Amino acid sequence: MKKVVVVGSINMDLVTVCNKAPLGGETLFGKEFFQVPGGKGANQAVAIAKLGTEVTMLGKVGNDSFGQELIKAMEKDGVKVEHIEYANTATGIANIIVEENGQNRILVVPGANGYVDKAYIDRHLDVIKNSDILVVQLEIPLETVEYALSKAKEFGKMTILNPAPAVKLSDDIIKKSDIIIPNESELGVITGLEVDTKEHIQKAAKKLLEMNVKNLIVTLGSSGSLHVNKDTEEFHSAYKVKAIDTTAAGDSFIGGFIRAYSEDNIGEAIEFATKVSAIVVTRRGAQTSIPTIEEVENFKG
Ligand code: ATP
Repeated sequence: MKKVVVVGSINMDLVTVCNKAPLGGETLFGKEFFQVPGGKGANQAVAIAKLGTEVTMLGKVGNDSFGQELIKAMEKDGVKVEHIEYANTATGIANIIVEENGQNRILVVPGANGYVDKAYIDRHLDVIKNSDILVVQLEIPLETVEYALSKAKEFGKMTILNPAPAVKLSDDIIKKSDIIIPNESELGVITGLEVDTKEHIQKAAKKLLEMNVKNLIVTLGSSGSLHVNKDTEEFHSAYKVKAIDTTAAGDSFIGGFIRAYSEDNIGEAIEFATKVSAIVVTRRGAQTSIPTIEEVENFKG
């Protein structure tokens, strides 16, 4: 049974549902408000745990009610939380506006996530040493991501990078990431290329391969995903479902991918991930929308 460590963000998502998001200077009425656990790191850890893989979360929350609530929520979903530390600042939050058509707009205030530093990683090196796979995103300081990846490779572990929110990546980060999973707009930022057509996406993916990425999986929303490595260029279609909230589609895709992953079956792992994320987009919220393994097995598409 594989063991996973996620080094990343833990946020409280403050979600507003509305007909239409306001433009600058405009005030509109929303339809509903709710508060749900989120953060790309925590969402991915919960997805991994709910789908039945052992996972430890490394990250920080603030010493406030959001922080305690978030730790409790992760623990309830089966994530190992004993290495999470409290920072002397507010817990990270994300303001999420969801339009009725399923589109979302997200503003993240990192708070405690900004205090996940190299010294913290050093205090918990044993967790990385005792895991098989390290998963990172970019909602904690970039130098910490780089450091965690370096330590994982030093210990001979498999590494997965979800480069979100996107920035230009250093050669070092790319070299130390065995599998990189961006969405199409992140692929655009990383490569500096246009990604508005299928051909452009293929071109940008090839450019990233030339930067020595071993495996690249670009998620394309309702168009599915593209897997590229030196031998493969393969599109995987998404399921046709009624999307009501795409929050955590990418995070659950990663959770599903890890659950089904082994070195010689990346295609099958992508198919499983596609199923998981199809269920997620039909439900509201982030961690709450992630299905259990039984729900995925019963999903008919
Ligand atoms: P988020 O940031 O909201 O978590 P993302 O932008 O990282 O999402 P997407 O590319 O939107 O990730 O979606 C990830 C995967 O989820 C897709 O590859 C696809 O398989 C599935 N998916 C997303 N949107 C839909 C949809 N409308 N219908 C079916 N499947 C979808």
